[in-house]
Amino acid sequence: MAVRVGDHIPYIICEQKDVNQVSARAHHPKEIADAKGALPIDINWYLSSQVLPPVARLCAPIEETNAAQIADCLGLDARQFHSYGSTPAARAADGDEDDEPILAAHQNDEERFKRCQKFEVTCHKCAHKWQLTGVFDFARSTRAAGAALSAAGLLASTQTPTGGSGGGSAMDTKDGATPTGNATTAGGPVVSLPVPAVSGLSCPSGINCPGLVEHKHDVIRVSTTLINQLTLEIRAQIAMFYDAVMQCDDPACGRRSRQLTVRGVTNGGVACIAPKCQGKMYPRYSSAELYNQLMYYSSLFDTAHARDSLQAENKRRRDASLSSTAPPLPQLSPVINKLHEEVFANVHTYVESVLERNAYCYVQLASIFKPQLHAAS
Ligand SMILES: [Zn+2]
Ligand SMILES: [Zn+2]
Repeated sequence: MAVRVGDHIPYIICEQKDVNQVSARAHHPKEIADAKGALPIDINWYLSSQVLPPVARLCAPIEETNAAQIADCLGLDARQFHSYGSTPAARAADGDEDDEPILAAHQNDEERFKRCQKFEVTCHKCAHKWQLTGVFDFARSTRAAGAALSAAGLLASTQTPTGGSGGGSAMDTKDGATPTGNATTAGGPVVSLPVPAVSGLSCPSGINCPGLVEHKHDVIRVSTTLINQLTLEIRAQIAMFYDAVMQCDDPACGRRSRQLTVRGVTNGGVACIAPKCQGKMYPRYSSAELYNQLMYYSSLFDTAHARDSLQAENKRRRDASLSSTAPPLPQLSPVINKLHEEVFANVHTYVESVLERNAYCYVQLASIFKPQLHAAS
């Protein structure tokens, strides 16, 4: 068959195991008819690359919609399309509705830092790895408090603490945080005494591990380990920022490149380098995202900030027990192991020194007033 320039050749993309390349899966309709069902049409490919991009573009101005949601409506795996065709600003603004409910005290940090790369701690005594959630681990505090109360027979047996047993309560006593939950059930509302909040540095392995910071000499060792780990992570983040990869915000294009065109610059975005694409290219990792990542690291070790969050959490607990029928959770007291506090302080001082060198939160007055200074002189 002779094929000339401008000829149209119909094709259909089919599902073929072991063949990844799309062009290799393109078949003529006659071939498909002859195959008698051996070449099924790749419906997912058509939905994700032919239907989703234009629909996502049409729906982009409608608030509360995003590509992931539309992908879900089309029966596609929504998780793959979360940051689909979005700019860093849009990524920061859109919400993850599928996340499990979070504690009020943590909500602001959780919202703010949800796209940050999370910080993991490894226990050098039992090699257990966990994600550091901050100075206080509210989720574990809740479980520990619930366990302490039910052990004392003060919670109805139907009120099991959320999230299963976990090693929290056994560990906390080791950290000098003896649960002192108490309540009076005789007539009237249940009153609960404060229970020390679980330190974020206590090891949750559940195998009776003495934890990261057991003795005075652990303080320097653990502080240094954490600071080294942070240094490596921060360097990687800074390297990613300086890579300066730009990505097209058009879902149909999604082109990534470090190449820039000289065609107009608007709103921090530059015209896409792909021929005929109307999209704009934005940094894959912006200075705002880098700053937010550093703020996330800082928040993890900030004891003053953690005490504020704890107060907010206690307020939420009070409000919840006033309005609902569930028995109130004990109030958390911001008692923290002295050794842990020293580690947090050491690491926090380090992160603050890194933040100070980051220029994002500073306004260069000299550059703003340069014209005026010139005019005056
Ligand atoms: Zn451990
Ligand atoms: Zn593009």
